[in-house]
Amino acid sequence: MIFRIFFEKTVTYMAIKKREFPETLIIRPPSEYRSLLVRLTRGCKWNRCRFCGLYPHLGEPNFSKRTVPEVKHDIDLLKQRHPKAETVFFGDADPLQIGADAFIEIAQYLRKVLPVKRLTSYARVSTLWKLKKDAIRHLARAGLDRVHIGLESGDAKTLNFHHKGQSPKMVQETTGWLKEAGIEVSFYVLLGLGGKDHWQRHILATATLINKTEPHFVRLRRLWLYRSDTVFSGAECPLFKEIRAGDFKPQTPEGSVLELKLLLEKLDSHLATFVVCDHQNNYVHVSGRVRDDKDDMLATIDEFLALPEKERAAHYQAVGSRI
Ligand code: SF4
Repeated sequence: MIFRIFFEKTVTYMAIKKREFPETLIIRPPSEYRSLLVRLTRGCKWNRCRFCGLYPHLGEPNFSKRTVPEVKHDIDLLKQRHPKAETVFFGDADPLQIGADAFIEIAQYLRKVLPVKRLTSYARVSTLWKLKKDAIRHLARAGLDRVHIGLESGDAKTLNFHHKGQSPKMVQETTGWLKEAGIEVSFYVLLGLGGKDHWQRHILATATLINKTEPHFVRLRRLWLYRSDTVFSGAECPLFKEIRAGDFKPQTPEGSVLELKLLLEKLDSHLATFVVCDHQNNYVHVSGRVRDDKDDMLATIDEFLALPEKERAAHYQAVGSRI
């Protein structure tokens, strides 16, 4: 037994000792482009959302947890390179899968060694929901300031169809716990997720859920139907299976602009939520606080929709899709 412990410790130490570069993340939010990126887990444990498949596509098909010493070692390496870093982001897809205690230990270590002013992380609703209110309070005390959550849709049927593994009720409850603990909530919403047939249902339910939860941020993206990739040898978007079977009809470009318009129209005008199209694949980019800027954002969309049809079509062609 003693030998085994000694052996494991030695192997771990050697593995850590050898690494001179920190591991990096596969995906990060655009808003974290200046943040130090710290990897707690690799890939996505859930990996079942029909519209996604991105981690396998980009070369990380499996999920694994990293050890606390490994992550601390990465933080030390990052500190040597960026000793004054003030914003830090934890990934990959759902870093709380490392366990709340490990997450807290890493967050506390990070705050001890770097002058961090903002610590943010991706988090799945189902993971936060399992943690419950008290554990979320502990995360806040350890210095977690904001979570980036894939809401995708507020519509239960759309979430079920895409195997998202969360319900609007779970979103509402966890958002309440996070806000109560003082953690900012940033939702990602996917335009086009209801397809051509259910877009209104998708958008109306999403607006309802945003009105109920009033997150700090709503970040908009358009559903990205990517083909297989020769560079990463990644497979195509899993949703193509449903498209071929006739179970999902992709939204048109103009339809996704109408979705954006309907969503904004249905948001309560008193919301302090900041809405932003901070991804290049949006056809129309609007940003602003709902209570201050809703009319201006809607005017921008109407201005675009008033352009001649040929110009709009050329614009849709030019924007294209990318991660
Ligand atoms: S959307 Fe998020 S939870 Fe779903 S498979 Fe992709 S990374 Fe995993």
